[in-house]
Amino acid sequence: MDQLENVKEDVAPAPHPDLLSPVRDMVQTCIQCGTCTGSCPNAFAMDYTPRQLWRLVLMGKKDEIFESKTFILCSVCYYCSLRCPRGLKLTEAMSALKQIAAREKLAPYLQSARFYQSFIDSVRRHGRVREMEFMAFYFFSMSLQKPFLPLTFAPLGMKLMAKRKISIEIPSRGKRPLEAIFRKVEELESR
Ligand code: SF4
Ligand code: SF4
Repeated sequence: MDQLENVKEDVAPAPHPDLLSPVRDMVQTCIQCGTCTGSCPNAFAMDYTPRQLWRLVLMGKKDEIFESKTFILCSVCYYCSLRCPRGLKLTEAMSALKQIAAREKLAPYLQSARFYQSFIDSVRRHGRVREMEFMAFYFFSMSLQKPFLPLTFAPLGMKLMAKRKISIEIPSRGKRPLEAIFRKVEELESR
């Protein structure tokens, strides 16, 4: 299964320097006005504001960028893109950074990447997320790096089960009702 393969994969130590160039092209004409920061509902929690992040991108400061949590905290609300006076595709630029971090298996984002992958795998198999199965595969994919991770979720899981918000489900291959959509997206992304 996908998760079994993930466990064996190595974590890349640092991104290749040219990885930033597509993102740099997207924010090349930034005038550092700060409108994106002022518009972002998540800026308060970011270590670099969106404006600062774009400056780092233009300066090629990949270590600072990929050690920050800024782009991971982007919730894809599009406010910054709508309000940027230069019309820059900032939300896409944030997503591009997420994709680089996931593709390169950068250590700080490994856990997030595996969480999202387990979620998507569950939706792909069943057409919706099956919570217990999703979390089981996520814990399994992280078992080498964080063997005690399930314990941190145990109290929340017990509470949810007591309130019948989640139920025990046996993992299965599912009927893959959304398979055609997933394949189409993969085809578009590979162009
Ligand atoms: S709103 Fe646009 S031009 Fe202004 S700082 Fe942000 S990215 Fe740069
Ligand atoms: S799209 Fe992301 S970076 Fe832009 S305003 Fe929304 S949360 Fe902030």
